[in-house]
Amino acid sequence: MKTIGYAAHGVSEELVPYHFERRELRSNDVSIEILFSGICHSDLHTINGDWGDQPYPLIPGHEIIGKVVGVGADVKTFKVGDHVGVGCMVDSCQECKQCKGHEEQFCSNGFTATYGSKDRVDGSITQGGYSKHIVVREEFVVNVPKQLDISKAAPILCAGITTYSPLKKWNVTKGTRVGVIGLGGLGHMGVKLAVAMGAEVTVITRSKDKLESAKAIGAKGILVSTDASAMEKASNSFDFILDTVPVKHDFNIYTPLLDIDGSLVVVGQIGAMEEPQTLPLIFGRRRISGSLIGGVKETQEVLDFCAEHGILPEVETITALEINKAWESLQKSNPAHRYVIDMNSLNL
Ligand SMILES: [Zn+2]
Ligand SMILES: [Zn+2]
Repeated sequence: MKTIGYAAHGVSEELVPYHFERRELRSNDVSIEILFSGICHSDLHTINGDWGDQPYPLIPGHEIIGKVVGVGADVKTFKVGDHVGVGCMVDSCQECKQCKGHEEQFCSNGFTATYGSKDRVDGSITQGGYSKHIVVREEFVVNVPKQLDISKAAPILCAGITTYSPLKKWNVTKGTRVGVIGLGGLGHMGVKLAVAMGAEVTVITRSKDKLESAKAIGAKGILVSTDASAMEKASNSFDFILDTVPVKHDFNIYTPLLDIDGSLVVVGQIGAMEEPQTLPLIFGRRRISGSLIGGVKETQEVLDFCAEHGILPEVETITALEINKAWESLQKSNPAHRYVIDMNSLNL
């Protein structure tokens, strides 16, 4: 199938229109016309070479909402016309312990990423969601519940699941004292989801001016991390801290905020950090952990959770022509919303 996307042809290069072909439908494939595609910080990290060499030309994008336009002979779950989603993965071995346990993100044979990975069948390079069409095997496609506004739901496929999965894993529930560091694409979803789970949520941020936007999405307040006396006062006051900051930073200032047995969970892949101080870890049995997206089943669960609780990402809709401008703005700051590309603006 001939289609079009926005690709980078080299490290840190601007994205430009790129004509390419999607594969013929295999028997277990779903063919999707992409309607909306979210812009994630990972897209910038990947294209800018922060995570190693990439196979250019490369089309980023792993927050995909679209409409089914074709199904292979053996597809049972989806039919033409359904609204569906695709997140960060498009395949895995389906046989290892992690895959069988619905945690394909930890597949011991390595999952196939939505873009920049080798297809398991034909070895071609996968291309992402900043494009008009995508073909994905059925097991990696999720259903978008009718209650969700499809023009806003795309960021649930990465920002949503990346924050939902650790909140569930660490048993965040009614009354849990949760801190969310950073109020960008991931952080604002973490706040909304934790609030819906009944947690008491505080946004931990460097800037005082985030108070209004934090409260608007359900946080009880903010803790300004540059205010030494406020930070001191907040010692031992969190059960769980979700660290969503997408650039290198020092988490030693945050660990004392945890109560005994509290956990700080990092979800941004940002390379080396400052050396962790052992004192607050030992004196308080505090933990620093990481978490990576979530499995396909859990991705369906977060979509259903958002539908049930009326949660939608804060979104700024842009056209394909505005992609490079949006990237520039993400490079400079971490706005408390996601840019979502309306794929209607991209034509063959
Ligand atoms: Zn992402
Ligand atoms: Zn596997």
